[in-house]
Amino acid sequence: MELNRRQFGRILGPAVGGLAMDGWSDAVIIATEGSYLVKKGDTLSQIARKFGSSVKELQQLNGLSSPHMIRAGQHLKVAKTAGSASSIARKLRWQIGHKHVDRKRWKKIIVHHSATRNGNAEIFHQAHLRRRMENGLAYHFVIGNGANETRNGEIEIGGRWKKQIHGGHMRSQRLNETSIGICLVGNFQVTKPTAKQLDSLYNLTQFLQSELILGHPRVYGHKDLEHNLCPGRNFPLKQYRTRFA
Ligand SMILES: [Zn+2]
Repeated sequence: MELNRRQFGRILGPAVGGLAMDGWSDAVIIATEGSYLVKKGDTLSQIARKFGSSVKELQQLNGLSSPHMIRAGQHLKVAKTAGSASSIARKLRWQIGHKHVDRKRWKKIIVHHSATRNGNAEIFHQAHLRRRMENGLAYHFVIGNGANETRNGEIEIGGRWKKQIHGGHMRSQRLNETSIGICLVGNFQVTKPTAKQLDSLYNLTQFLQSELILGHPRVYGHKDLEHNLCPGRNFPLKQYRTRFA
């Protein structure tokens, strides 16, 4: 199930940047199918909501004559979307702005780099679990650089955002409680973030700061708040802070 949700997020991710992915048409992005393992007590409308779909769409996709025909253990197809980039971006925004979002809690948006050449949400999740962080992936969002089956500029939504729980991206627990952590994959002491990563970061920040979260959370680089090099000397921190001041 995790894997499938990840794949789904991955499919939609790049659209939020408003840019076509390499080799993809500007106007139309065809999302491939994901699947969802039905759990006991699930209803089709809950599943539809979870994936930004509709009951009707899921019925059609799965050949269900009635919305009550699902049972636990069944694999449902959850997406086979052909739509404009903007309609898919809307779906991603919908997933990020899901109904459980605590719009008053988040006071800061803090940007990190992964300080690795590559990686993705799942790889960092496993690494953080091995470091005995019980909730795994320390960040709320990861923006890919094209390595490890992510697309360049893809936004992956972490489990902590879905559950609206504290991050693990800062040493200070106080900051973790009230700050949204966004990680761009790469070591920006050595390389630069890609244009698509920055584009996705700017779109995500704009959405969080101006539309979703109340009180206009301020933006920071990790090193603005704690003593270290993150998000690296090549990350355009001044520019980012100025733009979202
Ligand atoms: Zn950091």
